[in-house]
Amino acid sequence: MNTQLAHGPFDPSTQHGFVNPAVVHGSTVLFPTARELKNRAKAPFSYALSGTPTTKVLEDALSELEGAAGTILVPSGLAAVTVPLLAFLSAGDHCLVVDSVYFPTRRFCDGTLRRMGVDVEYYDPHIGADIAGLMRPETKVVFLEAPGSNTFEIMDVAAVCDAAHAGGAVTMLDNTWATPLFFRPLEHGVDLSIHALTKYPGGHSDLMMGSVSANAATLAQLRDTQMQLGVNGAPDDTYLVLRGLKTMGVRLERHQASALALAQWLEGRDDVLDVLHPALPSFPDHALWQRQFSGASGLFGFVLDGDADAAERFLDALRVFGLGYSWGGHESLAVPASLGDRTIAKGPAAGSLIRLQIGLEDVVDLQADMEAGFAAVHGR
Ligand SMILES: *Cc1c(COP(=O)(O)O)cnc(C)c1O
Repeated sequence: MNTQLAHGPFDPSTQHGFVNPAVVHGSTVLFPTARELKNRAKAPFSYALSGTPTTKVLEDALSELEGAAGTILVPSGLAAVTVPLLAFLSAGDHCLVVDSVYFPTRRFCDGTLRRMGVDVEYYDPHIGADIAGLMRPETKVVFLEAPGSNTFEIMDVAAVCDAAHAGGAVTMLDNTWATPLFFRPLEHGVDLSIHALTKYPGGHSDLMMGSVSANAATLAQLRDTQMQLGVNGAPDDTYLVLRGLKTMGVRLERHQASALALAQWLEGRDDVLDVLHPALPSFPDHALWQRQFSGASGLFGFVLDGDADAAERFLDALRVFGLGYSWGGHESLAVPASLGDRTIAKGPAAGSLIRLQIGLEDVVDLQADMEAGFAAVHGR
């Protein structure tokens, strides 16, 4: 996989031997004759909104990593969620969404989709093949996310997708946490794999972008909706993601190892009630994770034995960890996780859930930083 990341499908010989693709800034594409202008649909590029040589390189690289027929780029991870939902849902349809979904996805489903006349229903992340019982003739989309946001439940992806397909629905999965290095959704029956490229592919907290990689059955409708909405990747951000992909494998190895070491350390503490990390053998869905995923990234949660004030004291004492949203960058972050939107996957019964993004710093420094956080919790 690292070889694939280091090289990708881009051929430097197409560009005078330069190792990396050019960043094409543009809108208009000129045609040499009126006939070629008329037949522009057959040209590789006809207008920058539908793609440039730069966006094509990133689309191809992501399609290769996901085993997809094609990939679209959009300006944020959230747009990578909303564009496929808009592509496959109409008024009167029913949409099944996992209850532990990323909160802004839920806000879109409860807002825009409901306003469009779509009936949105949330399901238990552990539903498995029993999702067949929720399928209706008008169920057109089953939306998955694994692991679940903040609570990290692992779904049986193939069981859900098989039942969804038997009922005639399209399946889409938000694969941001695992990246295509640790999970390949299309091999488990998912039709559309969604990424916030903002996270590990970008990797440096300096851009926002999203992608949707589709199988052959869904690609044309996805692409058509993207063009109806008029969104694509911007040139410089696309280039930064291409640059990020080159090191994503080695970065993820480090994120994975550091996060697991800190999760194990947290698990041994008396002031921690629980650690929510799929790669820990103590995690309830560990076997499901092990069967489907080939690795774990650097985002996990732990339950502090204390109330919201104690969590604030912990967070305020941190100096290496930053307090802020998003993740997947080089720097560690901590935030209190709020699960007030949940109706089924309600999370821990006691204590305060804190979400950690483990960056590329030295583990000893991150551990010392959290020691100071725990000392503050205990008023020391
Ligand atoms: C961050 C995130 C998104 C949205 O990505 P943005 O680029 O921040 O819009 C979508 N899904 C998941 C799981 C995320 O963590």
